[in-house]
Amino acid sequence: MEKKRIVILGAGESGVGAAMLAQKEGFDVFVSDFGTIAGQYKQHLEDLGIRYEEAGHTDGLILNADEVIKSPGIPEKAPVVQALREIGIPIISEIEFASRYTSAKTICITGSNGKTTTTSLVYHILKNAGINVGLAGNIGFSFAAQVATGNFDLFVLEISSFMLDDMYDFRADIAVLLNITPDHLDRYDYKLANYAASKMKITNNQRSVDYFIYCDDDEETLKAMQLTAIKAIKCPFSIQHEVENGAYLDGSQIVFNLQSKDPLTMSISELALQGKHNIYNSMASGIVANVLEIRNDMIRESMGDMKNIEHRLEHVARISGVDYINDSKATNVNSTWYALESVNTDVILIMGGVDKGNDYNMLKDLVKQKVRAIVCLGKNNKRIHEAFEDDVEIIVNTHSAYEAVQVAYHLAKKGNTVLLSPACASFDLFQNYEDRGNQFKVAVKEL
Ligand code: ADP
Repeated sequence: MEKKRIVILGAGESGVGAAMLAQKEGFDVFVSDFGTIAGQYKQHLEDLGIRYEEAGHTDGLILNADEVIKSPGIPEKAPVVQALREIGIPIISEIEFASRYTSAKTICITGSNGKTTTTSLVYHILKNAGINVGLAGNIGFSFAAQVATGNFDLFVLEISSFMLDDMYDFRADIAVLLNITPDHLDRYDYKLANYAASKMKITNNQRSVDYFIYCDDDEETLKAMQLTAIKAIKCPFSIQHEVENGAYLDGSQIVFNLQSKDPLTMSISELALQGKHNIYNSMASGIVANVLEIRNDMIRESMGDMKNIEHRLEHVARISGVDYINDSKATNVNSTWYALESVNTDVILIMGGVDKGNDYNMLKDLVKQKVRAIVCLGKNNKRIHEAFEDDVEIIVNTHSAYEAVQVAYHLAKKGNTVLLSPACASFDLFQNYEDRGNQFKVAVKEL
């Protein structure tokens, strides 16, 4: 019998992981990347003897596939994807593919903001509890590669909407939807409803024994839930009101009240990750741990000693009484809102970059209350000037992290916070948000 032909589009972490697993499962594998393949990935493909091409897609090698695994970065409108759709060749995500070859349970975490933080916190709690757990997905490690090489009982997966778009039969044992706020709308015909529908796919195929954990304060989530048949056990979390079978805030105490699980209360001052957004992330993580029947003292200990994750409200230094915070991962307006909300001093805000059609209105109140000056860090800062010129006296343009930090340093007074929380993508001046955050940190350390 002829081997099934699998074509993999994109040769990054996700594509190369998928190639490894596909080869291990005995398929005829071909990898195609429109751009240049990074050195370590190319080496890996060569070591494994997997066929590949780069700097273009050859139709003749792609359009005869039995199935295509598409990396999440490749948009639906890419000509090669359109051509595959026209012929009717099935296209799936790496997550969908990998899930066929593992019986490990999955905890799948999605949302517009807080995915990496929550995924890391859940992983930290489970690992500390001695569970044989793997960490994968959008967080930067391929799920398929770990299915091919590891032997885990359980996976914590960070899932982006782009991954969800190409998922069909995948089923999450525990699904977490943190929130739905506008992001990546360019990939969803500029319709929030399309993006929300993609996020709701996290609960597709769930059964009555599975769990769906969601934020009961998030209007878009509640709206989207009304349009979706959810079979899983629903576990809401809320800061605003009491809920049943989930988690809520009672004064300064988080109350976990899952039916048939050990009840748990925790003071928010015990949480290692501070800020309102992290109360949400901690509630979601605590529910997961509670569902998995992790002992309460273990949950409490792990939530108390979790380390802050790089580029997310990361405290870099205190210099002359001024705190410098790197929140480079804040690539949309909503995350910058939470960053500003969490700071209790006057702020010199470094923001800007690639504007994804941002609506800055939701920031205006907090900016008026807390921001003394905005240091724009981007090629084109026109929209930031327009949005805040009536609210903030000083708005300065800068074109490098070094320049931005120098300007912020001179503007900051003792007791202020210099906060890099851009609300924008980084690709105009930096390779990615990590590069932006790293350059910021280097510049701060040089002060
Ligand atoms: P994601 O992986 O979804 O991009 P991260 O955990 O990396 O999310 O956090 C990105 C940014 O979003 C952080 O810089 C933080 O300021 C903000 N953030 C984190 N959790 C939340 C949340 N639950 N709601 C809103 N904003 C959040």
